[in-house]
Amino acid sequence: MKILVINTGSSSLKYQLIDMENEAVLAKGLCDRIGIDNSFIKHTKTGSDTIVVDIDMTNHRAAIKQVMGVLTDEKNGVISDMSEIAAVGHRIVHGGERFHDSVIIDEDVMGAIRECIELAPLHNPPNIIGIEACQHIMPDTPMVAVFDTAFHQTLPQYAYLYALPYEMYEKHGIRKYGFHGTSHKYVAQRAAAMLGKPLEELKLITCHLGNGASVCAVEYGKSVETSMGFTPLDGLAMGTRSGTVDPAVVKFLMENEKMTPREIDEYLNKKSGVLGISGVSSDFRDLEEAFDNGNGRARLAIKIFCYRVKQYIGSYAAVMNGLDAVVFTAGIGENNPLVREIIMENLDFLGLGIDPEKNKVRGQEMDISTEDAKVRTLVIPTNEELAIARETLKLIAK
Ligand code: AMP
Repeated sequence: MKILVINTGSSSLKYQLIDMENEAVLAKGLCDRIGIDNSFIKHTKTGSDTIVVDIDMTNHRAAIKQVMGVLTDEKNGVISDMSEIAAVGHRIVHGGERFHDSVIIDEDVMGAIRECIELAPLHNPPNIIGIEACQHIMPDTPMVAVFDTAFHQTLPQYAYLYALPYEMYEKHGIRKYGFHGTSHKYVAQRAAAMLGKPLEELKLITCHLGNGASVCAVEYGKSVETSMGFTPLDGLAMGTRSGTVDPAVVKFLMENEKMTPREIDEYLNKKSGVLGISGVSSDFRDLEEAFDNGNGRARLAIKIFCYRVKQYIGSYAAVMNGLDAVVFTAGIGENNPLVREIIMENLDFLGLGIDPEKNKVRGQEMDISTEDAKVRTLVIPTNEELAIARETLKLIAK
């Protein structure tokens, strides 16, 4: 059975076709600059070279058509007909309080996803366009929505509520939702498998460290605390996002830098984080190079990033009253030994310790702890597409 996974952004659409018999990726790719000039599709059939084709894609419907074209193409394709796709799994950023799990998409679900636009004005609209485009091209194929927020719906109320007047929660749904849930859940399950213990008996801290970054406390298989909040801006310092700042800074900047609400939003989301601190880049490969060349602000940016992660690890060990393992995942977590080393310095009081040789690992599952560490440190590559495909299969099999 083959499942297509779709992840739609405002001007991009990523896809993966997965054969669920053996969970093998048959093909994957990206349609970029949709609705802008110079749009192109980048496609990789597993085992073959990547092809990049410039194609005019005026909207997401045109992009889905191109995806179907390339998947069924004689030379670069992997299926003979669209009907071989059993179902489509869609990554949806915000499911509000309604969705605690993935669901089959029907009119009612579409309505609820639309209601969440208010909570995720940048993310949910392209996600909806992606679903509608697929429904138009494949009207008889079941579609499943997998939400970034769903895994965190188990947070207790005292953890998800902000200390604002309660009516703001009732009126606008202002609360912590948390994001990257599909990734945190996937690596927590893999961690349990690596440790050879049931997930229901483990206390884990999962660190999803990519361009967007968040930490999650997973107690006995449930998310009980996470660092992103009402939006994905909260928590850690990220590539270009500030993470947590004193809320009074917003008013100060608006008054003293004459920023409008839109400008301050852009400033905190796009110009801050390690890019803003270093003035060099949002990408940790560039930062590390600058660090090696003695750039003090690149060094400071990496230090601030790592310091925040460390703070969350300490805090979440307290939240769960114990800890069995820390997991590193996503672009930086999987591939950056320097970041892992700085974060894990001086955490031996928690029973953590990493082996410098094992910590050299990049992009593969590995227990990087010292032999005698009581609490394990694991590197686990995330695979959100596979997690979405599994959820999709589970639902259509019901
Ligand atoms: P993500 O958002 O998960 O794609 O992560 C992006 C971040 O991960 C960037 O800061 C990159 O520097 C880092 N990253 C991604 N892949 C690698 C790699 N192969 N080696 C080192 N860093 C990487």
